Amino acid sequence: MTDFEPPLRLTLDGEALVSNWRYLKGQGQAGCGAAVKANGYGLGAVDVVRRLRDAGCRDFFVAHWGEAAAISHLVAPDCISVLNGITAADIPHIRQIGAIPVLNTPQQIALWRAAGGGRCHVMLDSGINRLGIGNEQFAAPLFEGLDIDILLSHLASADEDSAQNSAQLHLFRQQTKLVKAKRFSLANSAGIMLGRDFHFDLTRPGLALYGGVPRTEMAPQIKPVVSLSSRILQVRTIAAGESVGYNATYTCTAPTKVATISLGYADGYLRSFAGKGSLSAHGVPVPIIGRVSMDLVTADVTALVDLKEGDWIDVAYDLPHMSGLTGLSQYELLTNLGHRFGRIWK
Ligand SMILES: *Cc1c(COP(=O)(O)O)cnc(C)c1O
Repeated sequence: MTDFEPPLRLTLDGEALVSNWRYLKGQGQAGCGAAVKANGYGLGAVDVVRRLRDAGCRDFFVAHWGEAAAISHLVAPDCISVLNGITAADIPHIRQIGAIPVLNTPQQIALWRAAGGGRCHVMLDSGINRLGIGNEQFAAPLFEGLDIDILLSHLASADEDSAQNSAQLHLFRQQTKLVKAKRFSLANSAGIMLGRDFHFDLTRPGLALYGGVPRTEMAPQIKPVVSLSSRILQVRTIAAGESVGYNATYTCTAPTKVATISLGYADGYLRSFAGKGSLSAHGVPVPIIGRVSMDLVTADVTALVDLKEGDWIDVAYDLPHMSGLTGLSQYELLTNLGHRFGRIWK
């Protein structure tokens, strides 16, 4: 930890986070967990888990064992599920942390049995063909005697009106009849909006908790959680005919007041955002000019006579809108946000 004030900030709205979780939970009768992998989709897993835990969330999903360890002081160990499975080397650490593994393959099930077993989850692959026990591997004896809490599967196309959704639902339903488990779980954020048939006992939203909108029908209810701002490091007036930034991609056609701002591609503000992303100060748009570099962007702030070194610039980061502009997914836009931001919860 350092006492330096970071010159760029994520302002995170804890009430919006909780409100989004409550909205998703309210779509049916099922329990509602939270996917907090990748450091809470970039927001900071510790702060996300603490807030959702206090709101009543009980089930937290991470991808890696290291991610489980990072939040294990906040919730009971059996509230943490590790999606990406186990290796032999993980076993001693698993016992220490006490988080619950998601077993994805027959080999992992065998490993778990050989290591003495205990409570586990099992992932069935109902058609995404990524992690999980495929339908071609599915055989009831594989699961005999396992202490399965959650039998889960993951939807491939829940953000679209695709025939794959009902196909996966149908297959998962069939499989759930053949496997004993305490709970069944299928839906991610988008899957929740496909209707209660998809909810089973537990839903697992991630993106929409953080303000992402994977299906437009949820747009009016999902509140933005993340906003970005960056400090102006320097302001200068550049003469007509001078260029700005690497490779001189922008040439001033008139005397231009240029602000150099603490935000760059190392912070997840990609070079390809130039000409697409928008910055503003006091509600007045300030166009990005020249290249986005590693730590800096430059903007034309001629319209703002009083703007000066040390002032803050608002960086537009509405997830669906930015996704449309940049071609990045809303997931990428969140998880790209780098570690240099101060993360300030309000
Ligand atoms: C990431 C993930 C989720 C959450 O998905 P969102 O689309 O972010 O809601 C749920 N389940 C699994 C297995 C995941 O990997």
